[in-house]
Amino acid sequence: MEESRSALVLFSGGQDSTTCLAWALERFQHIETVAFDYRQRHRIELDQRLVVREELRRRFPHWASRLGEDHLVDLAVLGQISETSLTRDVAFAMEQNGLPNTFVPGRNLLFFTFAAAIAWRRSIRHLVGGMCETDYSGYPDCRDNTVKALQVALNLGMDKSFVLHTPLMWLDKAETWAMAHQLGGQALVETIREHTHTCYRSERETRHAWGYGCGECPACSLRKRGYEAWTKGAA
Ligand code: ZN
Repeated sequence: MEESRSALVLFSGGQDSTTCLAWALERFQHIETVAFDYRQRHRIELDQRLVVREELRRRFPHWASRLGEDHLVDLAVLGQISETSLTRDVAFAMEQNGLPNTFVPGRNLLFFTFAAAIAWRRSIRHLVGGMCETDYSGYPDCRDNTVKALQVALNLGMDKSFVLHTPLMWLDKAETWAMAHQLGGQALVETIREHTHTCYRSERETRHAWGYGCGECPACSLRKRGYEAWTKGAA
């Protein structure tokens, strides 16, 4: 495969990374996906992501031939060293430093670094992640400058010319729904509503207009607000 036409997508199986995967499938010839098992409480996302991949193959035949291998990296060590509400059984809350306790320090830095190591071995040039600093929880590793600095560090450290793409960086959640619709029409919006997983609590019992989830955790709230804003704007 041709290095410059290949991409590796950080794909957790949520709304954002599914939209990023669709974005990559439209742009590149060969796309692989990677996810990380860091003993997150919402590990159900690791099952859902495989369902989403299958649905994309089934519903979008022109994408199916481009969608290549999937990689699952065991990052148990990240769960061991992180005292956060995503990796421990504690309530979601804001910390004194202004960050929610869902922040796992260094998570996105590690994710992109491991992804680059895989891309290096697989001769893939483009890395894609769903980081966003418009409508986000204030995570400093989601900021555009962080990602740009990391791109430079990875290229220096691995002697490569990786390109780190963050197609959602300047979109809010409503615009992310709109982007999914633009990329794959109602079929992609349906796939996202039905199969992607965003809820920090792993709740998949209750189906809302915007998908499954508890409806109250920070991740559900963002997804819900965005969906409502998008449908209101589109109506
Ligand atoms: Zn939730």
